[in-house]
Amino acid sequence: MSVPAKRRSRSKVRRARANKHIKPSTLFPCPECKTPKMPHIACQNCGKYKGKEVINTAKKVQKKLAHKHH
Ligand SMILES: [Zn+2]
Repeated sequence: MSVPAKRRSRSKVRRARANKHIKPSTLFPCPECKTPKMPHIACQNCGKYKGKEVINTAKKVQKKLAHKHH
């Protein structure tokens, strides 16, 4: 195990941490709609994961349309 040779200054640590969470490290294109998405998480665009629809995106749209007709 190695020990850091020099202590990082407070500003350098904060700057590094500020940029750390901006974007996820790995994004894979969705097999359905090719939108970049996090692996092992259902696609936010089409709501599908491993070919199955996990998030009911279509039902939400239908509800919205039904409200407009009233
Ligand atoms: Zn998708």
